[in-house]
Amino acid sequence: MKPITDILSRFILVGRVAVSLLSGCAPVQRPRVIGPIATPQTFIVRTAGYSVHKRPIDIYIAGSGSETILILSTIHGNEQAGVALSRKLMDRLRQRQELLEKYRLLIIPVANPDGVAQNSRYNANGIDLNRNFPAANRQNSETFGHFPLSEPETRVLYNLINDYRPVRIISIHQPLKCIDYDGPAEPLARRMVMYCDLPVKKLGAQPGSFGAYVGQTLAIPIITMELERADDRLTADQLWQRYGLALMAAITYPEHPY
Ligand SMILES: [Zn+2]
Repeated sequence: MKPITDILSRFILVGRVAVSLLSGCAPVQRPRVIGPIATPQTFIVRTAGYSVHKRPIDIYIAGSGSETILILSTIHGNEQAGVALSRKLMDRLRQRQELLEKYRLLIIPVANPDGVAQNSRYNANGIDLNRNFPAANRQNSETFGHFPLSEPETRVLYNLINDYRPVRIISIHQPLKCIDYDGPAEPLARRMVMYCDLPVKKLGAQPGSFGAYVGQTLAIPIITMELERADDRLTADQLWQRYGLALMAAITYPEHPY
């Protein structure tokens, strides 16, 4: 005879499968890139859009919770430490099933794939994507784009926020060595610095930046996590040792990350 806990866990599993099948068939209008509901066990990957040179911009989705958190890296293509760090974060989250039942995680390791291919801050049109958003302080220019959202990469992020409505956003950059914030995110920034060596520093909203748009225009808390320049020489494990707990704290805020 099987132990009762085994029978119960099978019953719960069948229930979950039934719920996700039913949800998959529901005649509701779905956001563009959500697709099937992510199981709590794993990340699914979706191509949310394409760069100027038609490289996919992949988004990794996991969790079934009601709070959605977006973490993205490398909107500046020559700031690549966040790629390994965000992939390591996914490894760790796979081991934290209780968090995946509480939150929905959206992770974009490479927001500017053409920039990464050329090790360039800019996209393939020479635009600084982090100045191309429709914030109040936006300026049109050769480098910032002649109009807001002129670039496919920025439209991907714009649509993603409209579709998923994240409750907080972390954007990983280098090399300014601080936790910067926009919008109502100062308490979140102060929580994160309890778990890493970076200080809170208000850099000031740059014109048309992702931080200015998300934090000031949409009033969604957003952290610009500025790692060190030398961090791109670290292994994923070393990056995790340095910044992992701060990232986890950003997810579990206002709870502690343990
Ligand atoms: Zn940057």
